[in-house]
Amino acid sequence: MNCPVCGKEMEKGKVTTDYSRGLFFLPPGGKIGFVATRKGIEKQGGIVLDGPYNTNLPNETEIPAYICRDCRKIVMEY
Ligand SMILES: [Zn+2]
Repeated sequence: MNCPVCGKEMEKGKVTTDYSRGLFFLPPGGKIGFVATRKGIEKQGGIVLDGPYNTNLPNETEIPAYICRDCRKIVMEY
């Protein structure tokens, strides 16, 4: 994948977190809410990238991603 800013080849990696409620894209002003639900996220125009997890059980979120270190940009797949 090429960087959308400079056009150079991007490095493959992942965006990851542990013990999370999941990972969500939200538009400006969007909120996850007290109890995260797919319906609640999507109703705001958001996207559930992983989850939602509403437990204290361990979970790991990993989303494939590409990075351009020169432009400090990350492109994620969903
Ligand atoms: Zn770049």
